[in-house]
Amino acid sequence: MTDLIIRNVRVAEFDGLIDLAIKAGRIEAMGRGLAADGPERDAEGALLVSGFVESHIHLDKACILDRCHNETGTLEGAIASVGAAKKSFTAEDVYARGKRVLEKAIVQGTNAMRTHVEIDPGIGLAGFDAVVKLKHDFAWAVDLQICVFPQEGLTNYPGTQTLLEEALQKGADLLGGCPYVDSDPHAQIAILFDMAKAHDVDLDFHLDFDLDPTWRHLDEIARQTVSHGWQGRVAIGHVTKLSALPRAALMDTVALLKHAGIALTVLPATDLFLMGRGEDHLVPRGVAPAHVFHEHGVCCTVSTNNVLNPFTPYGDCSLSRIANLYANVHQLSGASALQACFDMVTEAPRRLINQSNRIAVGEAATFVALPARDGVQVVSEIARPLWGFKDGRMTFEQAAAQLFEPV
Ligand SMILES: [Zn+2]
Repeated sequence: MTDLIIRNVRVAEFDGLIDLAIKAGRIEAMGRGLAADGPERDAEGALLVSGFVESHIHLDKACILDRCHNETGTLEGAIASVGAAKKSFTAEDVYARGKRVLEKAIVQGTNAMRTHVEIDPGIGLAGFDAVVKLKHDFAWAVDLQICVFPQEGLTNYPGTQTLLEEALQKGADLLGGCPYVDSDPHAQIAILFDMAKAHDVDLDFHLDFDLDPTWRHLDEIARQTVSHGWQGRVAIGHVTKLSALPRAALMDTVALLKHAGIALTVLPATDLFLMGRGEDHLVPRGVAPAHVFHEHGVCCTVSTNNVLNPFTPYGDCSLSRIANLYANVHQLSGASALQACFDMVTEAPRRLINQSNRIAVGEAATFVALPARDGVQVVSEIARPLWGFKDGRMTFEQAAAQLFEPV
């Protein structure tokens, strides 16, 4: 007796519709017309995928538009207004706002996330403690990876490094960095690499968050990645300067990231909102061309970053929408380009956060059903997930829309 048979699903490696049997949280069998004994569910031809993955999101500073506003619309304005609001954050408050984001993300088909958490002597470990509790309380639906980082600087803010150490001792999964806010960016990068090696954790930097290509911290990150032997363990996010590079210089940077084994994360909602504020017409888009790096074998992801805060005053936590936004900004069309956008919110971020989740016999019964033929249609039509499972248990369902024609 199986626990559940899901009939008529579309899975990438199979032609036509197949059935899938679940037992004890795992996929017991897959194939056409499975003869199995147990309760059944008809998927009516839905596409089954392993689920969306946020490789870069901030649960601790989400949903704060009721208490702060970005006056200038710039990056500096966002950091200043969140910095002021952060003074009143408590663990209970961070938990409640993070819970709201997780609940939105779950119904959008997201089942794994890397969240950044700010650590400094002002907030202490209050935000971190709240996110640890969220990780535990939402493990039924989302695998949460916690990246602690010094948003307000490391070398310029005494006490921050000790708190980062403490968070790593208490179970933070990896370290983040933010050299552009530090009074000594290269020293911050060096300290974080030393800490990452001592704790054997990956690194994920907020990097190069402006549109001036005449200087950047990327080369120093690449240099230290190679000299520390940390290839394959470093990610960089935003890197908006890449959108200001002519093709030849861009291709040199593609080669640099490949050589250093650095992954690239692009956050189009935030980058579009914050970049180009100095212009009053022909405003630049400021979104790094991740698809070019992806095409050349760099691990690239597209993610939500912020939800309803001064960095990004929008957000429904839909990664099919963010993939569509990315495709639209970069004027992408055609099956392979749109499939790449789908990969950058599913398979690539899962690889980045060191998870695997295949829809195959013997694997965990963790997947999401979408009303689409393939990833291309998911991106072009912003398909809304129908339902999802994690480890054999249903985690959400959204009722299909209905039309009521006059009779
Ligand atoms: Zn971020």
